[in-house]
Amino acid sequence: MADFKVVKILGVRVDKVTKAQALEAFRRMLDGDSCELIVTPNAEIVEKASKTPQLRRIINEEAALVTPDGVGLIYASRLKGDPIEEKVAGIDFARSAIELCAQLGRSVYLLGSKPGVAEAAAANLEKEIPGLKIAGFRDGYFKDEEESSVVEEINASGADFLCVALGSPKQEYFVIRHRDSLKVKAAAGLGGSLDIWSGQLNRAPAFYIDHGLEWLYRMIQEPRRLKRLPALPVFLIKAAIRR
Ligand code: UDP
Repeated sequence: MADFKVVKILGVRVDKVTKAQALEAFRRMLDGDSCELIVTPNAEIVEKASKTPQLRRIINEEAALVTPDGVGLIYASRLKGDPIEEKVAGIDFARSAIELCAQLGRSVYLLGSKPGVAEAAAANLEKEIPGLKIAGFRDGYFKDEEESSVVEEINASGADFLCVALGSPKQEYFVIRHRDSLKVKAAAGLGGSLDIWSGQLNRAPAFYIDHGLEWLYRMIQEPRRLKRLPALPVFLIKAAIRR
């Protein structure tokens, strides 16, 4: 279990880590001997976890690292008077972690998203990151009864770091269900990251990211997310008043 300071938002743990501290924690996981779970929640996932005991327990008690992904959590922590120093977006953390794997000669497995996406993401990452070894990839649309063969495939690849993009909480439940048989040292739940690395979806331009408006860009790109927009101010108010 991590020894970071944490802030509880709606009863859900978020680690007060900087990008550099999160990466250092990841480096230590690579030298460990068990599969550690990294959760990268945004406000929406924290809200979901506040209402879902199973997910909340995993985040609060089982995860080795819970990064603050998104300005919603930064604002909520400030309103609580217990500010998180900086946003650590899951996709940025994962990219640095993959770069570190390349430097250290460790390999990566990409699991999730629609058929063809993980493969395209693997090809792009290998092109962009010198020395990177993608040990394997697989789409995220497999049946429950195929799960153990998916785990075997990941283990047979010899990967050290598992990127899981099945959406939350499916990705966190998958890792916890199989953590005793998974041989990877770290597994991170990464939502739509493979879609972005594959080129299927665009990351927000720097202006949006730098001004805390990445959520707005995502709304424009994926209008289905619009229906979740009214939840954000309510989230902040609830987070601020709940001790
Ligand atoms: N996904 C998957 N298997 C599933 C459901 C979703 O691989 O059974 C993938 C989906 O293709 C997408 C990613 O999970 O690449 C994140 O999905 P979504 O954006 O719906 O999740 P959220 O933003 O809620 O985490």
